[in-house]
Amino acid sequence: MTPKVARFLADHQPATPCLVLDVDRVESNFRALRVALPLARIYYAVKANPAAPILQRLVGLGSSFDAASAEEIDACLEAGAQPARVSFGNTIKKVSAIRRAFAAGVRLFAFDSDEELDKLAAHAPGARVYCRILVENTGADWPLSRKFGTTLEHARALMIRAGELGLDPYGLSFHVGSQQTDTTSYEAAIGRVAMLFTDLKDAGVNLRMCNLGGGFPTSYRDDVPGIDRFGSAIMGAMTQHFGNALPEMLIEPGRFLVADAGVVRSEVVLVSRRGTDPVRWVYLDIGRFGGLAETEGEAIKYRIATPHDGGETGPVAIAGPTCDGADILYEKSNYRLPVALCCGDQVDLLSTGAYVTTYASQRFNGFAPLAEHYI
Ligand SMILES: *Cc1c(COP(=O)(O)O)cnc(C)c1O
Repeated sequence: MTPKVARFLADHQPATPCLVLDVDRVESNFRALRVALPLARIYYAVKANPAAPILQRLVGLGSSFDAASAEEIDACLEAGAQPARVSFGNTIKKVSAIRRAFAAGVRLFAFDSDEELDKLAAHAPGARVYCRILVENTGADWPLSRKFGTTLEHARALMIRAGELGLDPYGLSFHVGSQQTDTTSYEAAIGRVAMLFTDLKDAGVNLRMCNLGGGFPTSYRDDVPGIDRFGSAIMGAMTQHFGNALPEMLIEPGRFLVADAGVVRSEVVLVSRRGTDPVRWVYLDIGRFGGLAETEGEAIKYRIATPHDGGETGPVAIAGPTCDGADILYEKSNYRLPVALCCGDQVDLLSTGAYVTTYASQRFNGFAPLAEHYI
């Protein structure tokens, strides 16, 4: 937790549950990433946290933006981003959204299918397009599955067709999976991209851009390699495969920029025991439906701070306050919390600035969406 967040919580005692996010930390993360990968243009993945104070700060820092819907594009433009700095990175776009983006001046679009390419040719004529290829997501705590991306062979045909349809076949993209802790996954993906660059060059299509996607991890319960390690692995692979003919490089960080800037403060609603089971059940006033959706499958394991830290601990299961049986955060991940923890205590879920606020449900069981404070 940053000192600014700690001070805000102490001074204001905001009603829980709430997210408090230090926008200065977003800026320092942005600067660290720029140092680690100075040749890459940063497109912030807006979905990680689309709050206006974050977008405005990033506009001021010269960031570009990866948006997934017309609404996210509007949010970027309202925050002051130039349309030329916005990429419509979703491979699944409504025609109305393509038209709206194109009319607003957006000229960079992702796709991974013939059908989407036809939509782009019809509704974003002449735009720069990049094809997303399928890569391994092993090593990622939040993999993106086979929902996105296509084979190298298909991508090759698609890029040739893009030119024939009057679009600008600009480059290729991939995403190694979110919270990717293994630097080698980027290296392998870059190798695949480079092969296709060569292949397409032989076919008369000169690609100019490699979009390395997001995935850069933040430290949750377990520490992760520093961003400099990802930077050097990526630059090593880029020079190995492209020599000194480096294409333009884009990265689309989401989690890395905002996660550790935010803290969710929550109140313990109940601590209960089931008979002689040593595992206590700790119920918080936030759960899966309050925004902690990434605890699905116990994939993302947040660090939890309590007022009793340092005292004796015991095993716990941790759950949210709703009447849904799926509203359990952790049951199998061997969480331990202080034995002194009781109803009414306030606890902090650390590094919750990414993928939390927007995942909060609309009044399931009557609970209000998560309150947000940007400081
Ligand atoms: C979600 C997403 C990102 C951001 O991923 P992180 O793991 O948060 O960095 C980047 N690009 C695309 C296309 C995405 O869908």
